Amino acid sequence: MNSTENKNKKNGIDTNCIKLAQSAGYNKLKTNNSEWAAKRTAEDPEYFKRLAEGQQPEVLWIGCSDSRVPANEVTGTQPGEVFVHRNIANVCVHSDMNMLSVLDYAVNVLKVKHVIIAGHYGCGGVAAALTNKQFGIIDNWLRHIKDVYRLHANELDRITDDKAKVNRLVELNVTEQVYNICKTSIIQNAWMERNDLEVHGWVVDISTGLIKDLGVSSSSPHNLGYVYEFDSSLDAIAAH
Ligand SMILES: [Zn+2]
Repeated sequence: MNSTENKNKKNGIDTNCIKLAQSAGYNKLKTNNSEWAAKRTAEDPEYFKRLAEGQQPEVLWIGCSDSRVPANEVTGTQPGEVFVHRNIANVCVHSDMNMLSVLDYAVNVLKVKHVIIAGHYGCGGVAAALTNKQFGIIDNWLRHIKDVYRLHANELDRITDDKAKVNRLVELNVTEQVYNICKTSIIQNAWMERNDLEVHGWVVDISTGLIKDLGVSSSSPHNLGYVYEFDSSLDAIAAH
């Protein structure tokens, strides 16, 4: 056994057995990266030095995982300007530790000023939720969107055009997720401490590239409804 074989075995993996994908599309990613880094450095020799020093984004983008709605490109922003969390159909579930961790870090450490829930027309996740088909484990995730449908069934059932129905549910889903984010103790406690934090709902129209602001922005808990609005956590501690 030569030294290379020994090294491979030592790591616990026989890499000789791994057939690496060498498709043109995959290799292009590496070429693109080299070209991008070289171009940025040529334009600004200090660019990556500054980027490596840290981030101070003012925006948290919670969007769909769909490959056609990248946060930076859609908003014309640069690396370092937008903190990003994405999942299928931009759903914000109050027991999702991944989303809550991102939200807490963005709001309480990075001190972002805007949280944007960004859906997009023609969302495959939303369209799937409107069917009775099974797609696998994702059905459990999409059930949150079925719940949004149930809340607005009267309106949605009157829409006969399938595409229009999906797109209206996209808007209603974004609105519901804005409320869900506002209901979190993370956002409500931040609102008690500062007045420069807003939550917004947008939909990206992939056919034009343009954003539609749904006009559901919120900067206080007062329209959440009685049962969702928290007292100050400090008041609660004092009461015991
Ligand atoms: Zn989507």
